[in-house]
Amino acid sequence: PEAQTLPLILFPDGARLAEPPLPTVADKIGLRTHAQTNFYDLAIVGGGPAGLAAAVYGASEGLHTVIIEREAPGGQAGLSSRIENYLGFPSGLTGGDLARRAVAQAKRFGVEILSPQAVVGLRTEGPYRYLKLADASEISCHVLLLAMGVQWRTLDVPGIDRFQGAGVYYGGGTSEAIACKGETVYVIGGANSAGQAAMHFSKFAEKVVMLVRGNSLAATMSHYLIEQIEKTPKIEVWTQTSLVGVHGEGRLTGITVLCSPSGDTKELPASSLFIFIGALPRTEWLGDVVERDARGFILSGPDLIRAGKKPASWTLSRDPSLLETSVPGIFVVGDVRHGSVKRVASGVGEGAVVVQFMHQYLAKVQ
Ligand SMILES: Cc1cc2nc3c(=O)[nH]c(=O)nc-3n(C[C@H](O)[C@H](O)[C@H](O)COP(=O)(O)OP(=O)(O)OC[C@H]3O[C@@H](n4cnc5c(N)ncnc54)[C@H](O)[C@@H]3O)c2cc1C
Repeated sequence: PEAQTLPLILFPDGARLAEPPLPTVADKIGLRTHAQTNFYDLAIVGGGPAGLAAAVYGASEGLHTVIIEREAPGGQAGLSSRIENYLGFPSGLTGGDLARRAVAQAKRFGVEILSPQAVVGLRTEGPYRYLKLADASEISCHVLLLAMGVQWRTLDVPGIDRFQGAGVYYGGGTSEAIACKGETVYVIGGANSAGQAAMHFSKFAEKVVMLVRGNSLAATMSHYLIEQIEKTPKIEVWTQTSLVGVHGEGRLTGITVLCSPSGDTKELPASSLFIFIGALPRTEWLGDVVERDARGFILSGPDLIRAGKKPASWTLSRDPSLLETSVPGIFVVGDVRHGSVKRVASGVGEGAVVVQFMHQYLAKVQ
């Protein structure tokens, strides 16, 4: 097919869609992007582990629940090639597998999942919370849960954007890893996600080079992972090294790195570069409705009390409960919460716990 008809999607029933908008693809494969009704007991923004867990607990305890998910249920966990530390899975499981199981469980309890569909605005009116969706429709609810997680930071290197998905990948790479068979793969970052990715790529690639700005991994990576990396001969760790250039025509074919002690630059052939340099919340659409910290993470519970005073938007005599935001009945869980532990299990735990606070809120408000 000609380049302008790509991407072209072929379906098992013989249908073909050229350059289709995401909602069209979603519709074709049976995903739902429109709400069945305009009012829910509980609306959840974000279908990562935290949002899915809250949905399972909420719906199983009788709350009419909807999840609105911008991309695909599973969130960042869906990108993880192997989650080794989630209780009950001694040999680990892929993020994709965890997401599929969680979605099946949520649906069994009657949770409605709108995906792909983004939430773009929030307003409150008395006890009701209204969400504006990207298709300009609106849904309302008694209790709102913010579970939008975080999004990976992009690297500021001239021209890098044109290679995204064509040799340059952020925070993921399960499927790309298999395509790296026999190649040298470059991984940027010194935290656990970069370490896990390097371990995973070492199963397929000829060699994995980790480019780390700091002078060791010790300050940023778990000890067990550093040990695994040290025992993997295919992985090389280049410390005090940063990426300064990317090269190629349409696809990545080379990179330039800067070695900071000497100031020397080196040009290297490269076709796969995976970037894991931290993540930020995308909470701008909340405006001033709920309080956030300077980086955009959402404040909750005791973090909202300053000098013994409740936030200005707080209307009740009690203090905000543990996972409640500066607006009664709006809760927050998972990576998007200020001070959260960024793990699958902690997000799932918060998702389970928050439902208890919701019941307490609903008992008083209805
Ligand atoms: C590559 C990788 C490997 C990892 N490995 C591990 C591991 O081995 N063990 C571990 O414990 N943790 C691991 N983590 C961390 C773990 O995945 C996260 O801590 C966890 O997914 C956070 O869950 P969450 O539900 O808070 O947010 P997320 O998983 O970030 O999910 C949030 C969801 O909200 C959606 N969203 C955001 N904004 C909107 C909006 N406006 N409207 C609608 N939807 C929206 C997003 O599309 C996303 O799907 C890994 C992360 C990555 C990226």
